[in-house]
Amino acid sequence: DPVVAIVGRPNVGKSTIFNRIAGERISIVEDTPGVTRDRIYAHSEWLGQRFSLIDTGGIDISDEPFVTQIQEQAEIAIDEADVIILIVSIKEGITDADEKVARILYQTDKPVIVAVNKVDNPELRGEIYDFYSLGLGDPLPISGSHGIGIGDLLEKVCHYFPKETEQTDNDTINFSFIGRPNVGKSSLVNAILGENRVIVSNIEGTTRDAVDTPFETKAGDQFTVIDTAGIRKRGKVYENTEKYSVLRALRAIDRSDVVLVVLDAGTGIREQDKKVAGYAHEAGRGIIIVVNKWDLVKKDSYTMQGFEKMIREEFQYLDYAPIVFVSAQTKQRLNQLPQEIKRVAENQRRRIRSAVLNEVLMDAIARNPTPTENTKRLKIYYGTQVAVKPPTFVIFVNDPELVHFSYERYLRNRLRESFDFSGTPLRLIARRRK
Ligand code: GDP
Repeated sequence: DPVVAIVGRPNVGKSTIFNRIAGERISIVEDTPGVTRDRIYAHSEWLGQRFSLIDTGGIDISDEPFVTQIQEQAEIAIDEADVIILIVSIKEGITDADEKVARILYQTDKPVIVAVNKVDNPELRGEIYDFYSLGLGDPLPISGSHGIGIGDLLEKVCHYFPKETEQTDNDTINFSFIGRPNVGKSSLVNAILGENRVIVSNIEGTTRDAVDTPFETKAGDQFTVIDTAGIRKRGKVYENTEKYSVLRALRAIDRSDVVLVVLDAGTGIREQDKKVAGYAHEAGRGIIIVVNKWDLVKKDSYTMQGFEKMIREEFQYLDYAPIVFVSAQTKQRLNQLPQEIKRVAENQRRRIRSAVLNEVLMDAIARNPTPTENTKRLKIYYGTQVAVKPPTFVIFVNDPELVHFSYERYLRNRLRESFDFSGTPLRLIARRRK
């Protein structure tokens, strides 16, 4: 999806506008593990056009003077976005900080839209023409808190989106390594690329995609590895801030079919690991847990089982994700990764015919009768698969309220026992049949 970034100095109302645009988004994920989305990044949709939204104001680059911070936020917008919204405020007029941001935005060819916020009543509209002097085109009056002009703004934003290009390569499987700094993501990318044939593309890529590397295995399978860590580190200060690296990770997850969550065998699992893994799960991506630096671990016959047990306890909602123990350094088991990624990608696209699905459902019900509440028994009439990536099933029932978590989990498990869904989340939606 195209990316829209919001920039501007503090207090112009960036997060109010961000929430206005992102707010109405309804989550359809059924088995949410309680992960709160990062408030600097959201998916949104306007008149059927989907896009991602970044609030650069939420990326605090600590220890830097205020002006440097907003400059760097503008640079992040230039790096990440397809369209940039510069927010200014009618209350204060044009400030030095606004001009500084504008000057940075002159350096990009990407479309920039100037939105003049806090135009809460029509009388103020006459004053927005001052903002022409920013040199970034027609200013647009909006009010984040009153919800005025947001539709016009989004119309202008969508107008600039790159036209849908045909999928260049439908066969390639996109994947990324996600994890904290120093777990070995770059080393894994390099090691994998070292073992396979890198495909040199002659298609002009955008700068944003320049770090995606397509390659082919000996078996002839095609993959594209999406860089997250910024392998080509540009030495900018903000590259190392936590929020920015989380943002990069979330962006990479959105563009991946399969996400490889990398853990460091030496340091175990941290909160940040769970956060990005939870996001990948909610986004319905295929997931593989990769324990790297396995060479550093003193092993006896229980080490691997012990590790696996710990991972299963910490990532309970990822019980479907395969775990692979590797070493980027000694290359141990690295050659298993492509085939594992391929398998998960296939599972994520698996389609089950309705006849087969209903056989499994009826068999499940026969073995473990549906629950009853206040003498009302859950009736499941039939089920059908409505989507892939991830496989999504709708079951038609007499009353969706009667589908309790435990029974839903039971059905999910029956599906997993009946078909290979290893590595992919499953969505199960109960609908009332009249
Ligand atoms: P990234 O920040 O996640 O991309 O991590 P890097 O790939 O830069 O690796 C961080 C450090 O861990 C480097 O010093 C690597 O040499 C080291 N490293 C990466 N993979 C392994 C591994 O499998 N075994 C060992 N012993 N060290 C590793």
